[in-house]
Amino acid sequence: MDPGNGGRRNQASSDLRAWLALLRPNSKHLTKGHALAGTVTWELRSSQSADLGSRHGEIVTTGFSDEEQMLLDLVDRFVEEQLMPLEAGVIARVSTGEPMSLLPDDEDRLMALCKELGLFGLDAPEEVGGAALSAPVMMAIHERVNRTLVPFRFPPDSPNLHMLMVAGNADQKRRYMEPYAKGEMRSNIAISEPQAGADPGAMRTRAVRDGDEWVINGRKIWISGAADADFIILMVITDPDLGARGGITAFIVEKDTPGYIIERAIPMLGGTRTYELVFEDMRLPDSQVLGQVGDGYGPMQHRLTSRRLEIGGTCIAFAERALKMMCEHVQDRIVFGEPLASKQAIQWWIADSEIAIHATRLMVDDAVAKVQRGEDIRNEASMIKVFATEMAGDVIDKAMQSFGAMGMTQELPLFLMSQRIRMSRIYEGPTEAHRMVVARRTLAKHPSK
Ligand SMILES: Cc1cc2nc3c(=O)[nH]c(=O)nc-3n(C[C@H](O)[C@H](O)[C@H](O)COP(=O)(O)OP(=O)(O)OC[C@H]3O[C@@H](n4cnc5c(N)ncnc54)[C@H](O)[C@@H]3O)c2cc1C
Repeated sequence: MDPGNGGRRNQASSDLRAWLALLRPNSKHLTKGHALAGTVTWELRSSQSADLGSRHGEIVTTGFSDEEQMLLDLVDRFVEEQLMPLEAGVIARVSTGEPMSLLPDDEDRLMALCKELGLFGLDAPEEVGGAALSAPVMMAIHERVNRTLVPFRFPPDSPNLHMLMVAGNADQKRRYMEPYAKGEMRSNIAISEPQAGADPGAMRTRAVRDGDEWVINGRKIWISGAADADFIILMVITDPDLGARGGITAFIVEKDTPGYIIERAIPMLGGTRTYELVFEDMRLPDSQVLGQVGDGYGPMQHRLTSRRLEIGGTCIAFAERALKMMCEHVQDRIVFGEPLASKQAIQWWIADSEIAIHATRLMVDDAVAKVQRGEDIRNEASMIKVFATEMAGDVIDKAMQSFGAMGMTQELPLFLMSQRIRMSRIYEGPTEAHRMVVARRTLAKHPSK
């Protein structure tokens, strides 16, 4: 490690701790965790962190309590001082064909700092040591963390946490959810199969009861994070006749379970890896069933909805950063004797990008407010998944075009943003499947006379 860099990071880290010491006396949720409720009214304010990519401002809620605002300021500093300095290394590694990852020392140091600062279990319930933060605060945090391409998230990954919250029994919450919420365990979900992706109801991985146990055989593919997961949530068929209507069950599978095989890693765009998994006569006791037998589909959809909303926040963060880069560049770059920014074609890219980002933000804010009110947002989540991913892809593409050849390099972060956003049109359900369900619901709302 470059000692100069290490020195700077240690300084930043001690600044952060000193700052936290000021914060802590008023900030109970950072130490012991409690629910932070607030009325949600939205307004625009200027970004305080120009370097982090939000040129025009960000929507925040005036309903954020002082504690919540301090937490968001802490997250801003964490991103700016701890994550941003690592980004160039991540991009350099991906550009030479290595996986998108942190160096182990950096990952350990960041995780230790998170624990020290209380930046874990933020949306986990208090019963497992979480802070039970509201959906608007969690979205604000998610967007901040995604201003950088550094693959680090405050533990745990929310969607699996939410599935465990709705479907786990007391014993499973103690054994899995609590350590997961504290960042002591990692987890992922295995739904997709070689012949069943957009239509998970077509899955074939089968669990058959044998006495007190279940015997599972089958194959999953495209599973993110499987190599690092301490346990996976595995979706299987328990009643082929019922399929998605009562025949799919979720199981918790620990990594060393005999018969659970990680067959291969699959290199994907953007330096990411997914995995193909095989289950060969894998035996699980009843205690590993997550929720009710045959009732896995509902909690799984709940989990997917949570991720789709997060994807909206990621798209906004990426698009804002690309727009900022484009705006700065086109004002400096002279072509045909004048700045690129003076050309109407470029001005329209900028205006259209700003309009599209604003529209996406309103969609996400609306959905987050509905989550807060306990409403079903499956339709909103599908609309966001389609609109936000296409929006971000388009804004990033415009930014790449504005940079000319430089935009085609693997030196700017744009190529990595572009590849990651491209993949987000596939995972958590491809765009066309979401358009199909939105159309289906819209037609049902307006039946023929
Ligand atoms: C980076 C990445 C990470 C992933 N991580 C996970 C994971 O952790 N766990 C997991 O279970 N899965 C994961 N997946 C799998 C992902 O959920 C599936 O790839 C996705 O649901 C699409 O399934 P498929 O690839 O089999 O495509 P298919 O189902 O074969 O669909 C192919 C194409 O057909 C079109 N299509 C599909 N449905 C319709 C329709 N109704 N109308 C019109 N056209 C349609 C779409 O263009 C679609 O892209 C991941 C995928 C990627 C790319």
